[in-house]
Amino acid sequence: MTAALFISDLHLDPARPMATGAFLRFLAGAAREAGHLYILGDLFEFWIGDDEEQPPAVEVGAALAAFTGAGHRCSIMRGNRDFLLGRRFAAMTGVDLLADPSTITLGDERVLLMHGDLLCTDDQAYQRYRQRVNDPRLQRLFLALPRSWRRAAGAAGRRRSHRYAQDRPAAIMDVNQAAVSAAMRQAGVLQLIHGHTHRPAIHSFMLDGRPATRSVLGAWDKQGSVLAWTPDGPALASLPFG
Ligand code: MN
Repeated sequence: MTAALFISDLHLDPARPMATGAFLRFLAGAAREAGHLYILGDLFEFWIGDDEEQPPAVEVGAALAAFTGAGHRCSIMRGNRDFLLGRRFAAMTGVDLLADPSTITLGDERVLLMHGDLLCTDDQAYQRYRQRVNDPRLQRLFLALPRSWRRAAGAAGRRRSHRYAQDRPAAIMDVNQAAVSAAMRQAGVLQLIHGHTHRPAIHSFMLDGRPATRSVLGAWDKQGSVLAWTPDGPALASLPFG
């Protein structure tokens, strides 16, 4: 049995039923071979609140409830798209909500888990935006709005975000290596797993004279992307949608 599987950046929304279908099949099949499934942010393209009743929220919630109900463990970290995932969703689905960052132990290795956006420190405008939307008072105000308003605000935010990403140099939207080292040093780890940048890879480098690894999860755009923690360490695999 694989100790753990890691995915992120599925960006599930009504416009991409292939991705939702692939995730539901994964939850019903391959994911059940693992000891623990970790979803490291942006499971959903946008989350208007735990009272969401439109697809794919309902079917995904039911599939997660079936997964944990059958005795499988699942932990979810919020991403920059679904940062409003809350305790009610966790209670309904039986998943644990993970703080960003979190450190876990796999075998005899301590592993730092992050969504990844906190590491993109070169993008200062984004970091200011992130701080604003993480204000609990602002979030309470937003969650008190009617669902239709929140959906409209979410759609507008996604359009802004796409324009923003198109206008930014690619390097600014990747992680900053000094921020990576600082986060790993602070957690006292030589292993980091994150998503967000949509640049799946396993990077090896030296951290204070010791070999360290940064595993980056891929987005589920044209196919799924899964990282397995094996006895030999992390391994990336893709998951066809068809
Ligand atoms: Mn993200």
